[in-house]
Amino acid sequence: MSKIKVRFAPSPTGPLHIGGARSALFNYLYALSVEGDLVLRMEDTDLDRSKAEYEQEIIESLHWLGIEWNEGIEVGGPQEPYRQTERKSIYQEYAQQLLDSGQAYYCFCTEEELEQERQELIARGETPRYLGRCRHLSPDQREEKMAQGIKPTIRFEVPAHKIYLVDDIVRGRVSFDSSIIGDFIIIKSDGLPTYNFAVVIDDVLMGITHVIRAEEHLSNTPRQLMIYDALNFKTPAFAHISLILGSDRQKMSKRHGATSLIQYREMGYLPEAMFNFLALMGWSPEGEEQLLSPSEIARAFSLDRLAKSPAVFDMDKLNWINQQYIKKLDSEELALKVRPFLDRSPYGEAIKEMDKDRYQLLIETLRDHLVSLSDICREVGVVFDELEYEEEALQVLKQEGTARILQILADNFPDSDSPEDIKQYLKAMIKQNQVKAKNVFMPLRCAVSGKVHGPDLPSLLYIWGKEETVKRIKQTLQHLNP
Ligand code: GLU
Repeated sequence: MSKIKVRFAPSPTGPLHIGGARSALFNYLYALSVEGDLVLRMEDTDLDRSKAEYEQEIIESLHWLGIEWNEGIEVGGPQEPYRQTERKSIYQEYAQQLLDSGQAYYCFCTEEELEQERQELIARGETPRYLGRCRHLSPDQREEKMAQGIKPTIRFEVPAHKIYLVDDIVRGRVSFDSSIIGDFIIIKSDGLPTYNFAVVIDDVLMGITHVIRAEEHLSNTPRQLMIYDALNFKTPAFAHISLILGSDRQKMSKRHGATSLIQYREMGYLPEAMFNFLALMGWSPEGEEQLLSPSEIARAFSLDRLAKSPAVFDMDKLNWINQQYIKKLDSEELALKVRPFLDRSPYGEAIKEMDKDRYQLLIETLRDHLVSLSDICREVGVVFDELEYEEEALQVLKQEGTARILQILADNFPDSDSPEDIKQYLKAMIKQNQVKAKNVFMPLRCAVSGKVHGPDLPSLLYIWGKEETVKRIKQTLQHLNP
């Protein structure tokens, strides 16, 4: 059997969406799982909507997610170029073949004529389609139109009453009746191909064996099958993966939150977490385990475990997965990864002034509170924000004896080399003054942070250092006894 080859063929008309990212991922995983190749091709024939910035953004998104391809944009390959606008002459050659064999024809219909036909069909309750007005123009009529300077399109002549079948890997056997499909444009009046034509030519020339793409393209498949048939091309296998729905079971859209992949990077999701999460949308491994590394997923991946029913974008699940991946990062890595978020936050300057050890300890101390990397900007507030007291904290602080304990702490708080030093100091202080541990720890936490809950106290105190700690305790004493 020849080598398996799949492709991801985005149109650079916007950023890479969650759905596109998942299609790219499934192609990548399938290629990895069978040691096949992945091609990246840009379907940029919609000149009004395609933009170079979007192409760049799509590529950046794919790299971020950890998807690599063996052939195509950026890496080159035997079928260069891989941008459809640069392959114009190739499509024209095949369109010419279809013209020569009488399977395609020039169409001179104007927008107005087409719209009128559409309206008439709708009024009669029929499917709007092109009824073939230009099919039988005589050579003279054609010449005349050309002479008038009308730029024609080329239409494919749809065979009458033919059933096209596809044995889709996900959806099973699907049949399409050609009679509801009108002759469709394969080359537009600007000379560029339409999607349904270019996709077939490219998939054939690039040796694609499996077309794995979104379910919404199933309705395009009959038109593509007609082209395969007309040009005597062997059809690839098709796998149309199910839709992604929002939590309300409606098609995923902006209403449901961020739809482009890069937004998730900006919100502080880790690429490994996103990879894991996207892979589980429409595919499932055999076991129960949900946390899987890219290589584990690639090893377990197979097309027969793709789901037929729609996938639901479950934000809680993504958050849970991301949190698990954050927990697994080593300290240094985590400190590095949250840094860009902090640099952009109001705490950027304060963070810059911290020494490396204290900075790393600060991040480690807050790790368990992070669902996404950007949460760090909220969490560091405990260290840098002005003291404000919660009602519960004030209750603690107003208890009898608390002021005395805080005064002792303010007077004796040591310069320390580690959170452990501080712990030892607090233990000794408790013993010496014959007080209960909870009557020291809780009031101290409330005095320095204004809150009853928070991250590890000795670590916080070490991060502040003696001067800031004492300043905070004194400020609280002042607040209690103005
Ligand atoms: N350019 C198409 C899209 O972005 C690709 C569809 C296909 O994979 O055939 O949706």
